[in-house]
Amino acid sequence: MPRDPFADDPFDPASFLTEDDEAIELSEDERILLQRELEMVKKFRRILEPTGLKGLVFFCDHCDDEHFCTWDIVEGNMRSTLAGELAPMHEPCLYPDQDAYVSWEYCTGYLDGMHRAGRHS
Ligand SMILES: [Zn+2]
Repeated sequence: MPRDPFADDPFDPASFLTEDDEAIELSEDERILLQRELEMVKKFRRILEPTGLKGLVFFCDHCDDEHFCTWDIVEGNMRSTLAGELAPMHEPCLYPDQDAYVSWEYCTGYLDGMHRAGRHS
């Protein structure tokens, strides 16, 4: 995040806005978990993108709907969150090619299957 140019200014004109505009504070555990998930997303992408899959689909409790996120958006959101910035999670993707998006569970299952197949060959 760029440094707030008014950080050391006692007359910070934005100080009354900070209440609603707070950056996300991650606990150490959340940060470690998110970093691990980001590594997993990169692995999913490396394996699944060449097969034509474009990203992940998440069910969002907040919107009560599914969000289709490209690999770039998923990675970008995670990096923003790690950097303490709010990620634009709820931006809908217009007309997503729904067949090209898979769930997190699909990805972990796919990797499990690959490892199991690898052991038997
Ligand atoms: Zn949402």
